[in-house]
Amino acid sequence: MANPHASKIALVTGATRGIGLETVRQLAGEGVHVLLAGRDRGKAVEAALQLQAEGLPVEAIALDVTSDSSIAAAAEEVAAKHGRLDILVNNAGVFRDDGQLKPSQQSLDIWLETFNTNLFGLIATTQAFLPLLHKAPAARIVNVSSILGSIALHQDPASPIYHYKVPAYNVSKTAVNAWTAHLAYELRDTPHKVNTLHPGSVKTDMNANGDMSIPDGARTSVRLALIDEAGPNGGYYHLEESLPW
Ligand code: NAP
Repeated sequence: MANPHASKIALVTGATRGIGLETVRQLAGEGVHVLLAGRDRGKAVEAALQLQAEGLPVEAIALDVTSDSSIAAAAEEVAAKHGRLDILVNNAGVFRDDGQLKPSQQSLDIWLETFNTNLFGLIATTQAFLPLLHKAPAARIVNVSSILGSIALHQDPASPIYHYKVPAYNVSKTAVNAWTAHLAYELRDTPHKVNTLHPGSVKTDMNANGDMSIPDGARTSVRLALIDEAGPNGGYYHLEESLPW
């Protein structure tokens, strides 16, 4: 039987390392043609060449999610080369809070920098690519959030994240979840779907204490990128499990 994913085009932001790079590898391994997006074109090209050498259908593209001109140029490039986008994985993210400070002590600069990348960059990228996503037969938008965005778990003293109060990062991910619910509403009567996720506590440059491998950390993004028409719209997942908002 023909591979249903082989004709798809995907773009993964923040894909030069960590979970993003592995998401590109796994999606390309499923036969998807993947655009590996990095804010530094040189790093993106280097990473794409490595995956191409593994025989994977990967192409580099420059995309800084905090730059309007970079986002617009990337969307124009995808429109000119491919004419549509089937899968957008909004993976780029930063963690800037100082874990030694109380929630009220994080500086406004930290809040602004975090929100610029994790929330406003994600929304701006989605807005720019939506016209191309609407040209796909059944587009999938995957927002890489975190369990740290769950208000329900932050309010529960028995939850494993109860004491992990790094507010700029956590609230940026709560906002990504809320944005996902709003976009899911907009897409509800279309063939397109958007979901948000927690990849796991994954050992990457962002999380030296992570206990999950990077290949396992990419699994939730890949699953939600490849769901069929029976799959969810507006869900919040870790692996197969629904998370409390
Ligand atoms: P990472 O290793 O630090 O990688 C972050 C990636 O985001 C890098 O490729 C980085 O690019 C890119 N990036 C940062 N700012 C960007 C911008 N303005 N434009 C484009 N790309 C940008 O982190 P990770 O652990 O793989 O995290 C990936 C995603 O998972 C993030 O959204 C993170 O919040 C989320 N997450 C991670 C964990 C975990 O345990 N690791 C848990 C929950 C959620 P450069 O190489 O150019 O810096």
